[in-house]
Amino acid sequence: MEMALHRAFIFLGPPGAGKGTQSMRFAERRAVPHLSTGDMLRDAVSRGTELGRLAKPIMERGDLVPDEVVVKMIEERLDGSDCAAGVVFDGFPRTLPQAVQLGRVLEEKGFGKPVVVDLEVGPEVLMRRLTGRRTCSVCGEIYNVYDAPPRVPDVCDRDGGKLVQRADDRPEVVQERLAAYEHQTRPLTEYYRRLGVLLTVDASSGVEEVRRALDDTLERAEGRDGRL
Ligand code: ADP
Ligand code: ADP
Repeated sequence: MEMALHRAFIFLGPPGAGKGTQSMRFAERRAVPHLSTGDMLRDAVSRGTELGRLAKPIMERGDLVPDEVVVKMIEERLDGSDCAAGVVFDGFPRTLPQAVQLGRVLEEKGFGKPVVVDLEVGPEVLMRRLTGRRTCSVCGEIYNVYDAPPRVPDVCDRDGGKLVQRADDRPEVVQERLAAYEHQTRPLTEYYRRLGVLLTVDASSGVEEVRRALDDTLERAEGRDGRL
């Protein structure tokens, strides 16, 4: 019997690098679920669940939610039957302990080694991307008032939903989030490089150009490793 293609893709990169923008489209192209811990946490906050009440003040100040909380959330989500053919992680893992735990969970659930895509962008670009970000309150589509505006201001092109600014995209909180990235998340690139699964993509150009660079990089990697 043919084994199902069973692979986890991880999108790494600082806040504002374009992980959401690229990983949502990528997951759509591969027809696998897009798992964003940020979206899952924001959903819990807006529903006022126990998890949401715990996460809200942490997210508001730009810190990271405790490892065991996000790992449990992802571990439960991976039991969904829709994850059997593969998944795309966006914004997870974000710390070394999360990466180690994810490795264990993926192995237990029969996934192969993950493929990690690191989106590289200089710090000057990030502030513009983060402060200009707007998100559809209905479908989650991501826009940017400077670089990727909707056709009609504040209205989603896809479904007419109202576009909102995330509370943590205000400049004071952005600084905290970039610091959390430097201290806690950047070391993951080295971790995955050592595991031999890191692919690097220059994400400083426009959305379409980055998408092409991402596809080229993955294609080259697939050529090198037929199992991808
Ligand atoms: P961005 O897209 O700007 O990188 P996210 O939507 O991924 O931001 O995350 C928003 C916030 O949610 C983070 O600042 C953090 O508080 C929390 N969060 C998201 N993912 C994780 C994670 N894997 N571990 C801990 N906290 C997380
Ligand atoms: P992340 O998930 O890494 O925080 P997002 O995908 O939410 O990043 O993108 C952050 C902001 O930058 C959004 O406003 C998005 O529209 C914009 N953006 C994403 N990719 C690009 C790009 N290649 N060029 C210009 N703006 C971009």
